[in-house]
Amino acid sequence: MRNQINRLTLTALLLMSSFVVHCATPDSGVVFNKLTDTLYVTMNNQGANVGMLVGEKAILLIDAGAKRPGNAQALLKGIRKISNKPIKYVLNTHYHFDHTGGNPFFAAMGATIIAQQQMRYSTRPHHLRFKQQFSMSFAGEEISMFHVPGHTKDSAIVFLSKANALFMGDSYSPDMLMYEGVEGKAGYDQMVEKAMSLTNHQSRIIPGHGAISTASDLKRSHEIRDLYRARVGQLYQKGWSAQRIFEDKQTKAILGSGITYYGLRLPQDIIESNFIKAFELTSAQLSRFEGVYVSQDGITTEIFEEDGKLVIRRQGSFLAELRAMSATSFDLVGFPFVQQEEVNFVVSKQGAVEKLVLSIPHRFVLNQWIVAGDAVKKP
Ligand SMILES: [Zn+2]
Repeated sequence: MRNQINRLTLTALLLMSSFVVHCATPDSGVVFNKLTDTLYVTMNNQGANVGMLVGEKAILLIDAGAKRPGNAQALLKGIRKISNKPIKYVLNTHYHFDHTGGNPFFAAMGATIIAQQQMRYSTRPHHLRFKQQFSMSFAGEEISMFHVPGHTKDSAIVFLSKANALFMGDSYSPDMLMYEGVEGKAGYDQMVEKAMSLTNHQSRIIPGHGAISTASDLKRSHEIRDLYRARVGQLYQKGWSAQRIFEDKQTKAILGSGITYYGLRLPQDIIESNFIKAFELTSAQLSRFEGVYVSQDGITTEIFEEDGKLVIRRQGSFLAELRAMSATSFDLVGFPFVQQEEVNFVVSKQGAVEKLVLSIPHRFVLNQWIVAGDAVKKP
């Protein structure tokens, strides 16, 4: 397996070097590499990889990651080394800040931001939202975006049919098993199936992080994910802790040396997304929590039922699934980098749901502070 991963990395490197036609000096900030006459990609942006289509009149970006103030300006400098045309569109692969951090900056410059409709619960500006699929023509290219919930509820992949290039955001990375997301195995299986149906052995697959890959790299990474997930599930069901699973030699060997993640977070995420069973509540028991809750600062949190599950969304903040742990307490699923967070509902003696209490130990999430505390249910 170790050899397999090394081969994967090597293939990715070789492919990258053969694809890269234009390359500026390494110390010149953000550098875009030319893939076709109109398509460029930067892999040293201070956020996720960014794709750029340069048309006769304007520019389209795929993602606009910027982790810190000044990063979007640096990205613009990189763009300006290639073209001075106005930036007309930004397509977002999902709401995570390292992919959308530049949205406000480019929106202020007049760009129209396009994203999947769940993006409306993020703090980033966006203008056009699609549900399942979105298509447009730009710079002689046919662009299609597809909703592939997996890594996040709003994840999308972007296919450029003429360039035969698939931008996958964080649905895939050659170096990491990305955050498993609320859909677990089912989400990743469907996403890979979609990606495979769009691509062939000549396609370029551009991950959100890491080097340009091929369809067989994606397939191999997916196989490693399946093996790792199965192993984690097996040990978890035997009663092992996430820590013990993480440290297990055989489990580590599945990843080899080429794939990493945020350490212990990987088995934790996989367990949370796939193997923890919810406390059983009937549809009627779940629906009494539905409604709008208002906190002291006026921010609203909405709870609603979707496909037999409760979903929580806080205005301009986050969207996650609620998994019952008892009759009145819930875990947030699909809420990256956070552990031991929960929502408790306060219920009156008469059985009426009065308020929700959100507790989060680490409240700095996705580059923003999440306001924990009480929110009162609107009558
Ligand atoms: Zn992400």
